[in-house]
Amino acid sequence: MADKKAAMVGTPCQILAATKINEYKDKTGGSPICIKIGLFCMENFSYHYLKEFLENDGIKLKDVKEFRIENNRFKVFLNSGDLKDYSIPQTESFKRKNCDVCIDFASDFSDISVGSVGSKKGYSTLIVRSEKGEKIIEGLEKAGYIETTEVDEKLLNLLEKIAGGKKSKNLKNIEFKEKIARQVLYNRIISEKEFEEDTDGADFDLLESDVIKVGNCVLCGACEYVCPENIVEINSRKPVKKGKCRENCNLCYISCPRTFTSSKIISNDLKAKPESYPLGKYIKILNAKSTKNKGQDGGVVTAILLYLLDEKLVDDVFVVGEDPNNPWKPIPKLTSDKNEVLAAAGTKYSTVPIAFKALKTK
Ligand SMILES: Cc1cc2nc3c(=O)[nH]c(=O)nc-3n(C[C@H](O)[C@H](O)[C@H](O)COP(=O)(O)OP(=O)(O)OC[C@H]3O[C@@H](n4cnc5c(N)ncnc54)[C@H](O)[C@@H]3O)c2cc1C
Ligand code: SF4
Ligand code: SF4
Ligand code: SF4
Repeated sequence: MADKKAAMVGTPCQILAATKINEYKDKTGGSPICIKIGLFCMENFSYHYLKEFLENDGIKLKDVKEFRIENNRFKVFLNSGDLKDYSIPQTESFKRKNCDVCIDFASDFSDISVGSVGSKKGYSTLIVRSEKGEKIIEGLEKAGYIETTEVDEKLLNLLEKIAGGKKSKNLKNIEFKEKIARQVLYNRIISEKEFEEDTDGADFDLLESDVIKVGNCVLCGACEYVCPENIVEINSRKPVKKGKCRENCNLCYISCPRTFTSSKIISNDLKAKPESYPLGKYIKILNAKSTKNKGQDGGVVTAILLYLLDEKLVDDVFVVGEDPNNPWKPIPKLTSDKNEVLAAAGTKYSTVPIAFKALKTK
């Protein structure tokens, strides 16, 4: 799909993966992703362990209407109308451990970030980061897809506190982890020259030892996408190599969001003081809700995707839908079908590689 354009929706780690793939396009071939819509994200869960946890508490996933993380509780709304809720420490048994060293809450590398913290019920918080993102939001509002309001100062303070809290807590986790085990490479911001030197000849075996075996893989799917030999496969737990690497190839290593980050990707002031920029760099913050469709919060992500397809600003969009045979099991899709976009609204709180791979076959 060389001449096609795609919009992606993803968690901060997935957004960083797309950023790296495109930044090193002279080597990776880049991607058709031209708009990145990042979600806020505190943590993500393993589908298998979430299912097991709920079953042990007498809940079948087919009976769940909605999941929400609100007021420091993990809430499970059932089709029967009942609500089960759990404390955040109770989610530890199904939380993915790589999230403990993640220092991005608000998708700092996206064009537009969207989340629920910072807005009242039924609304989403929008962080507009790039001029491209700003134009899209203005277009969306003008065409009547969304209504926006100014963000309340108290809610903005709360958002900054939560995002900054994640950064400082997980920076401490990184410090602790590095005392007892290997370095957490993605927190090591290095110059582009050092990046080139340190990743020279870094093949899948090194990716395995630096990222996968130490429990830092986020299962984004970037390594599978960029592999020129098509020998990377992602099973439900981790990427595996199914063949021999091309000589001197390091494409999976340079694209992975959990290897080194070069100063070409992250600006110097953000790098020096991550806690001073809890929300990353941005142009403006708004509250918004869709006028046309429903979603997890204000339905704004779905509205943006519909607008981009309607206006033919992109050919396809990434979504994460649900497996019809396994309730709440996330299924990544690359689609131009607006019904699929509408059906994918809502948050699936478990990890899945997003539809990078589908870009190869479309
Ligand atoms: C794992 C996860 C953790 C989150 N944690 C927080 C948090 O701590 N605080 C907060 O404020 N917001 C969090 N969010 C974001 C929030 O749940 C909503 O997605 C966001 O507010 C957008 O709501 P909406 O109504 O505008 O989106 P909708 O219109 O409902 O669209 C949601 C979009 O998200 C995509 N999606 C759903 N599940 C996934 C997934 N697993 N991976 C990638 N894409 C997916 C769908 O394809 C859909 O296009 C989280 C989201 C995810 C996926
Ligand atoms: S590593 Fe975990 S917490 Fe960080 S963005 Fe990815 S899913 Fe969210
Ligand atoms: S050939 Fe090997 S080093 Fe190159 S991208 Fe594929 S797995 Fe990675
Ligand atoms: S090893 Fe592959 S799937 Fe895991 S984080 Fe890196 S690029 Fe993503």
